[in-house]
Amino acid sequence: MIHFKLLAFLCFALYLAECFLWVPAEGWIFLSWFKRFSLVKGPTIRFRNPWPMGFTYRFEPDAERSSGGPNLSIENAKTLWGEFQKSIPLLKWFSRALLAVTLSAFLLFVFRRGFMLAWGLLFFIFVFAHLSIVQSFWRAYPKLYPGKKVKRIKRTLLCLVSPWQSARALDLLGDDILDGFHPLVAAKMLLENTLFLEFSRRWMLDLRYPDLLHKDHAPRLLLGELTAEKEDKSLSDWLSGQGVDLDKLLKPLEASHPSHLSFCQRCDTEYGIPKGKCSDCGRDLVPFPVQP
Ligand SMILES: [Zn+2]
Repeated sequence: MIHFKLLAFLCFALYLAECFLWVPAEGWIFLSWFKRFSLVKGPTIRFRNPWPMGFTYRFEPDAERSSGGPNLSIENAKTLWGEFQKSIPLLKWFSRALLAVTLSAFLLFVFRRGFMLAWGLLFFIFVFAHLSIVQSFWRAYPKLYPGKKVKRIKRTLLCLVSPWQSARALDLLGDDILDGFHPLVAAKMLLENTLFLEFSRRWMLDLRYPDLLHKDHAPRLLLGELTAEKEDKSLSDWLSGQGVDLDKLLKPLEASHPSHLSFCQRCDTEYGIPKGKCSDCGRDLVPFPVQP
């Protein structure tokens, strides 16, 4: 029985480790729950990836980009996303089958009711679902990432050698689906409008009012523009094109309480002192207009 407890403990530990998400501090992550997406800022979830990176992918915003900067085209992103959606049902069902078979085998083991036919049947379904995922993955990949042959082979092999990985083939397939698009495009596509506006405001404020205390928090000029002003102009034009009222979006903060006397333009934090510097970013505080 001690072996069983050890096995159960290992499964539980692996499951927990899988649940921990890793994003860099100051990074943003999109979380999905059924068909709803929400946004979480990096520092609130700051677990490190416990596994060797291997073939896995991680977005590197500073990496050289051959295309000369992220794409701002919503149409292209939607086309690609639509193509990805077509692969979802099949891969999802096979992945579920894999998990269901694993769970059944586990329960059989727990209750010691296993017999040869059951084990043989479960093993057959397991291998069938696993290989079906590998084949579906192989066929779907070039439609989403034409020309990326090496990555296609690597990732399909990864699925093939590890059922653990093939159960997550959907993640592997969709990992870099929006790579090459600006984060605001991803936000526009995935988030509810209020969250998209919140994210856009945060992005634009970071660009306009850089952090003076932490040099590594400098705004990222993803569009390949030379100055923050030019990047600001390009993104402002794009946001206006999406029907966003920029004046409303970047409206200065209003005091939420009469005792709040000033605020930080970058962090949207309110202060009870009339002037000074923001403790988070070192920028000069801006006094709230005096109420008549
Ligand atoms: Zn600040």
